[in-house]
Amino acid sequence: MSGLKRRDFLRKATVTGLGLPLLSLFRPVVARSRGRFQPDHPVVISSGNGEQAVKKAMELLQGGSDPLDAVIAGVNLVEDDPNDITVGYGGIPNEEGVVQLDASVMHGPTHNAGAVAALENIRNPSKVARLVMERTDHVLLVGEGALKFAKAHGFREENLLTERARKIWLYWKETLNDRDDWLPPPPKEIEGDVRRLVETHGTIHCCAMDSRGDLAGVTTTSGLFFKIPGRVGDSPIIGAGLYVDNAVGAAGSTGRGEANLKNLSSFMVVEYMRRGLSPTEACLEVCKRIAEHTKLPRLLDESGRPRFNVKFYAINKKGEFGAGAIYQEGHFWVYDRQGPRKLPIPGLYKRRMHRK
Ligand code: ASP
Repeated sequence: MSGLKRRDFLRKATVTGLGLPLLSLFRPVVARSRGRFQPDHPVVISSGNGEQAVKKAMELLQGGSDPLDAVIAGVNLVEDDPNDITVGYGGIPNEEGVVQLDASVMHGPTHNAGAVAALENIRNPSKVARLVMERTDHVLLVGEGALKFAKAHGFREENLLTERARKIWLYWKETLNDRDDWLPPPPKEIEGDVRRLVETHGTIHCCAMDSRGDLAGVTTTSGLFFKIPGRVGDSPIIGAGLYVDNAVGAAGSTGRGEANLKNLSSFMVVEYMRRGLSPTEACLEVCKRIAEHTKLPRLLDESGRPRFNVKFYAINKKGEFGAGAIYQEGHFWVYDRQGPRKLPIPGLYKRRMHRK
């Protein structure tokens, strides 16, 4: 574990509320076979919105599916779900009210990858990303080119903006500032959760290891809410929002994509696992690196900590899994031989003061 002082890391982890008992939560049941640790059961993990995804992926893995087929089928359920406003159909649009989706996939056994960015009118960008991987000599297609490619493969265009997402966008637009000609909506028109949801953001990441020890992952999103049209986040960038090395592990991320683009964070999680850190330690070490690299004053709070959050999810080659965030917040889903469950995401810091 050259270059990284494990003792320092664990001391820090304890100071921040991440003691050893919590770390041991993430140790899997492994079987010893022919002198090497081997997973004796598939493992799937996903972000906090991934309950359906881990269940679907595990069902397929247990039937012998390739891990990439399994995780894509898992996240497709969330891309299709209009109630998840962070992914696919029903995702929150850009500042002009247009839904633009980003996704990437990576397949461990072939070390192959595919991605699409700023894709409009197609609800399952992860399926298109997979076709980029399998049916082209490229890795990333964007915008109009990605749409033409999807249509060439028979995908149907549809309006992805649901009424709920449109209302959230309109509320944001009308309350953005008091110097434009859009007037704030009458309070009675602000239905239920609209005001609260303007503050939310998200993505789904899902990665898996099958019982042969092969890994794959997918990250899919509608990106930051109300983004500038054409903005591409970390999710479709291999190494930033997703990375898989079949000899080491898989990792992916949700949260402020710009931080992952500047740090190639998912690649770094896998590299830390290669050096011997557990998945949880690797995720938290990358959070530490992002915090150290965050230097712009507008991104820092009064105590010099990032004003944003980023979360990581990882599985290593032994079938161990973990997650970590800059700020301890929310949960992630795992499904292994102990069944599906939701676990808290440990943080480098306990709580944050600001949202970004
Ligand atoms: N990572 C996503 C992006 O930057 C957003 C998120 O996960 O909240 O596009």
